[in-house]
Amino acid sequence: MNQSERSMFFATLENTVAAVDPELATALRAERQRQNEGLELIASENFVSPAVLAAMGSVMTNKYAEGYPAKRYYGGCEYVDVAEELARTRAKQLFGCDHVNVQPHSGAQANMSVYLATCQPGDVVFGMDLSHGGHLTHGHPLNYSGKTFQIHPYLVRQDTETIDYDALREMARLHRPKLIVCGASAYPRIIDFETIAAIAHEVGALVMADIAHIAGMVAVGLHPSPVPSCEFVTTTTHKTLRGPRGGMVMCKAAFAEALDKAVFPGVQGGPLMHVIAAKAVAFAEALTPDYRGYIEQVLANASTLCGELQALGWKMVSGGTDNHLMLINLGADGISGKKAEDRLGKAGITVNKNTVPFDTRKPYIGSGVRIGTPAVTSRGMGPDEMRRIARLIDKVLRSEDEAVWAAVKHEVEEFAKAFPLYGAA
Ligand SMILES: *Cc1c(COP(=O)(O)O)cnc(C)c1O
Repeated sequence: MNQSERSMFFATLENTVAAVDPELATALRAERQRQNEGLELIASENFVSPAVLAAMGSVMTNKYAEGYPAKRYYGGCEYVDVAEELARTRAKQLFGCDHVNVQPHSGAQANMSVYLATCQPGDVVFGMDLSHGGHLTHGHPLNYSGKTFQIHPYLVRQDTETIDYDALREMARLHRPKLIVCGASAYPRIIDFETIAAIAHEVGALVMADIAHIAGMVAVGLHPSPVPSCEFVTTTTHKTLRGPRGGMVMCKAAFAEALDKAVFPGVQGGPLMHVIAAKAVAFAEALTPDYRGYIEQVLANASTLCGELQALGWKMVSGGTDNHLMLINLGADGISGKKAEDRLGKAGITVNKNTVPFDTRKPYIGSGVRIGTPAVTSRGMGPDEMRRIARLIDKVLRSEDEAVWAAVKHEVEEFAKAFPLYGAA
């Protein structure tokens, strides 16, 4: 779809809403404009295709389909069955897994279903500490995972800021966990799933690898896959995979029945069939050579952006990146992550504050910012743009002057226009 077709596509959608709800239509237009004009560097975000949006906006939203294809609790499921089968078949093709459940509404619910399939309340579970790169659902005290299980968080090494596999092995021998959760939200390095699985299996534990962030790289073979070594692999579908907002769980054949029961009726009711339809579309896109090229560019862009920021004097967690994201460590006496996020936001550059390993600031403030390349790469940006973005970030972070931030925002808008996204507003 070219840009003028995109403009028409969105105008039709927004005008349809406007006829009923002008207030909401105004917000829809403003959000499209915000996405068109800004530089989106949040590592967990991306821009889906009009085909994915169209499937999400389809009549499949009307259908109740509790159960699974050919085994539903409602009549009239013949066409939503087609959508779910397409999503399942393509997911298996992408990841080479024995079994997949495409119904989880989100990454958090994907993880919850694996806990339900494998653990009892009070069981010992290991997860990577949130401030070292893990996710809330990997055992944070405020999350159901932390409230339900006896969590032992594992950390990165202080010297390399990479996962301390030796400490993990010692912890496993000492505490004999039921489940080891691995995978991360803010970890810029390759994760050695095979080693983690070996540590788990030595003590009779199961492994859940959560590849929410790196699924795109795993799908095209540019990050080692956890599928051969781990019993369960969970993911979101909306990050590097560039599909609709949602989750998915893959598992070994032996756990297929337990997993399906955990998702429904264990954790969820009716599946979001319009979202599952959009997952099918996104997986078809991810199976193309174009998508592989896209992921290669995401990685090349992250490497260029990171190198350029380092050359400008910024300290990066673990000293660099192997994947789609990086973390600037602003330092205990530098500006906080929150300040950096606010300031870059005023310059039209969207990032998120993040804690860094062994951070002394609170999570809401943080000493780092997380930066990712999936979204800007979807717009077609390459190495030249990454070098320019690095210079803009550097300028904003080093200036106290609001006028400088505003000037950068103006430059960013012009810059973004050269990489049209969702048609003219
Ligand atoms: C994003 C993320 C999730 C949660 O996904 P939601 O769809 O926001 O619930 C879970 N695990 C990891 C590692 C993530 O990065």
